[in-house]
Amino acid sequence: QLYNQIQDLKGTIRVYCRVRPFLSGGSDKQSTVDYIGENGNIMIVNPKKQGKEARRVFSFNRVFGTNVTQQQIYADTQPLIRSVLDGFNACIFAYGQTGSGKTYTMSGPDLTLEETWGVNYRALHDLFQISKARMDVIEYEIGVQMIEIYNEQVRDLLIMDDIRNHSQLNGLNVPDASLVPVQCTQDVLELMKIGQKNRAVGATALNERSSRSHSVLTVHVHGKELVSGSILRGCLHLVDLAGSERVDKSEAVGERLKEAQHINRSLSALGDVIAALSQKSTHIPYRNSKLTQVLQDSLGGQAKTLMFVHINPEVNALGETISTLKFAERVA
Ligand code: ADP
Ligand code: MG
Repeated sequence: QLYNQIQDLKGTIRVYCRVRPFLSGGSDKQSTVDYIGENGNIMIVNPKKQGKEARRVFSFNRVFGTNVTQQQIYADTQPLIRSVLDGFNACIFAYGQTGSGKTYTMSGPDLTLEETWGVNYRALHDLFQISKARMDVIEYEIGVQMIEIYNEQVRDLLIMDDIRNHSQLNGLNVPDASLVPVQCTQDVLELMKIGQKNRAVGATALNERSSRSHSVLTVHVHGKELVSGSILRGCLHLVDLAGSERVDKSEAVGERLKEAQHINRSLSALGDVIAALSQKSTHIPYRNSKLTQVLQDSLGGQAKTLMFVHINPEVNALGETISTLKFAERVA
């Protein structure tokens, strides 16, 4: 187990695929997932086609089937998250069409049920625990920022009456986004509520809005080694991306079309950056979207990137499933 984790940490870019289960009562439905191999392969089947043409295999670092728990997902992510306390930067992305399970993976379905917590809360919980355990050796400070990127505009989601910007911590490349110090998981839960509330302001329907914007939760870590006095800084970005579904250009008009174009452009810009990094290209095109600009310091170099791509196994999602897996294969 440990050996696997060390192996996993070697690459700087990893891609995991997670298959969403059928929602209530749909277990007898036909699935486009034919099988999941142990070596990170997933075979997709098109039930409308026959023979060789009907099947296609995609390969990733790992594939998680419908029975995998939030705890198991986190266990695989943990080494990367813990590296932030050693001064590394990391980005975790959730990619997929709307309804494929991105928010489930990152936040979870219900904050009041600890066993359903997603990567975000488990990560912070873990960081607090480890930083406390190291208290005699390193003095840590942890702070969070929460922003939303909608139509290439950044919005701070943690605007409060008393903005407590923290001096020790390096912020995001977003000059004015509030950076709030946190001491325990409870603090984070409170902030999440504020973030959710701020996100809802001005949005007619929260679900609609949240599927069309990228949300970025950033955890900043500042550590001071007590004996040597040396300083380390780490930063973790947890990104719930906008829905990747392609919008029919003949149908979308006005605002909807504008949103769709912004999303398409920023997701392809992200794909271009990660693909350039994985090919060790000399030019990394960070400037092509707000998202990649904001994350620039944590994409590439020593930083580690993990992309969770989500698929919905229903037959009517097949087209989106294939384009999601193609996107993922390109960056893997
Ligand atoms: P997205 O954020 O990609 O739009 P959601 O995370 O909101 O999708 O998931 C859509 C629905 O599917 C939600 O009702 C969610 O609770 C459910 N769901 C997603 N993934 C899982 C999973 N792994 N297990 C159980 N339910 C899931
Ligand atoms: Mg969502």
